[in-house]
Amino acid sequence: MNTQDAATSMADRTAEGAPAGGSAHAWRLPGPALAALYLAFCGTAPALALATLGDSAPLAGWEKVAGALGLVALAAMTVQLVTSGRFDTVSGRLGIDRIMAFHKLIAWWILIALLAHPLLYVLPTWLADPALGRERLVAYLTAPHYRSGVVALAALALLVVGGALRERLPWRYETWRGSHLVLALVAVGGGLHHAITAGRFSVAGPVNLFWWAVALGAIAVVAVLYGWRWAKLHRHPWRLASVTRRADRMWELDIQPGPGNPPWTYRAGQFVWMTEGARRFPLLDHPFSIADSPLRPGLSLLVKEAGDFTSRVGALAPGTPIGIDGPYGVFMLDAHPCDAVVLIAGGAGIGPIMGLLRDLAARRDPRPIRVAYAAGRPENFACLDEIRAAASVLDLEIVLVSEAGGAGWGGHIGRLDRERLEELLRGLDPQRTVAFMCGPGPMVTGVSDTLLDIGMPMRNVVYERFDYGSGAASRQDRRHALVIAAVGAGLVALAGLFALVA
Ligand SMILES: Cc1cc2nc3c(=O)[nH]c(=O)nc-3n(C[C@H](O)[C@H](O)[C@H](O)COP(=O)(O)OP(=O)(O)OC[C@H]3O[C@@H](n4cnc5c(N)ncnc54)[C@H](O)[C@@H]3O)c2cc1C
Repeated sequence: MNTQDAATSMADRTAEGAPAGGSAHAWRLPGPALAALYLAFCGTAPALALATLGDSAPLAGWEKVAGALGLVALAAMTVQLVTSGRFDTVSGRLGIDRIMAFHKLIAWWILIALLAHPLLYVLPTWLADPALGRERLVAYLTAPHYRSGVVALAALALLVVGGALRERLPWRYETWRGSHLVLALVAVGGGLHHAITAGRFSVAGPVNLFWWAVALGAIAVVAVLYGWRWAKLHRHPWRLASVTRRADRMWELDIQPGPGNPPWTYRAGQFVWMTEGARRFPLLDHPFSIADSPLRPGLSLLVKEAGDFTSRVGALAPGTPIGIDGPYGVFMLDAHPCDAVVLIAGGAGIGPIMGLLRDLAARRDPRPIRVAYAAGRPENFACLDEIRAAASVLDLEIVLVSEAGGAGWGGHIGRLDRERLEELLRGLDPQRTVAFMCGPGPMVTGVSDTLLDIGMPMRNVVYERFDYGSGAASRQDRRHALVIAAVGAGLVALAGLFALVA
């Protein structure tokens, strides 16, 4: 695309099209409200159990803790079904990174609590008579009466350990994802069955009714995730209008709504889950950021070849039916009032950054805009003509950094280090500037921490990663992990409170 075409492309986005943005989803709960609801939900079974304590035999202190941990952790395990990033009410304000961090960290808490659950029941016996304690534990693990609980615990252990080791497993992502779903259903189904049929506080009365209601809720969640969404992907397919090569192994897909599709809005920077052709099933979809302005009808995605699905997109024929589920995500500038905007992209992270830049250009935003774009090699840079052309309508400065040089490369060679970032922020007030960043995990971690060192407040550094895998945590990640640990401590407090009061 030459500079003239690029300028036209930016201008096209000012044509009449979709409404001026705004997610269709109104019910997005803020973090503190979600934490309070979460603790209230996880504390419901112990609270109901307190009401029925008089009907059962008195319990030793450790047995009370064991029972309470079982009740709290089982409720927390069922909530994991809705912290997968697909429910906008749950993840709408937090964003996919934070909700996935919560999902992964709390999973360890649940596993430890449920492993402790049978052990604490036998602890008093074990302390008095180790041989008898061992015998009781073996009986718990082998008696048919407790089998669903043992199966649930085994599935949970595989689920959590398999999630942590995902990148090292020799499986396709889809295989891992399918196994994750099956194990989750076994863990939740087995856990609920165990509570309803063998739970010390749950076999009858209000706690029993609570678990039945939770079971119905879990069935409804799975029906929405894999039934209703599947039907939606098939009833309202979008159409691939064109595929254009934008860089080495990077493609731009122009996707338009099919005839009769219901009205659809999004905000610049959000992402969708996408499937194509006959594969339009929720378990096979992939997340991609919208590289477009909502002022243009339809949407475009910038897709970098990374594996089996993305390697096929360049060969998709125009007219292919596309499944779109979304929009999701909080990578949205309008939620961060500021005087200046810094956009930072690394590799495939250019997708949402182009979405924000195209939207700023389409709206002729008067604020100073700085763009830093880093990639491995000059041929990896996408949409450079269009980015440069945006300077004709924006107060724009661009810093390009390639790890390797090449013929005709006029940008910097190296990485986005402190020197480059200071150059980017020159003349801007870090307190009144907001930075939006998307790129590979290590780059996001390093750049985010450097921006804080330079003086930007944490709330003004916003980022999204393209993978949920492990990797070095940024200072902001560690802050979020502390909040999650506080929620975990809240769960422990619920169990402790039950043991004290019971
Ligand atoms: C919020 C978000 C936005 C994204 N936006 C873009 C974008 O605009 N452009 C772009 O090129 N890439 C984007 N990605 C990454 C993109 O989703 C993956 O590269 C793609 O799914 C890889 O699929 P594959 O089958 O080709 O490769 P695989 O070899 O199957 O996967 C490569 C890696 O991609 C991740 N991945 C694969 N499938 C999924 C899935 N269904 N859900 C979540 N992660 C998956 C896993 O970490 C996996 O290890 C985004 C990811 C996220 C989480």
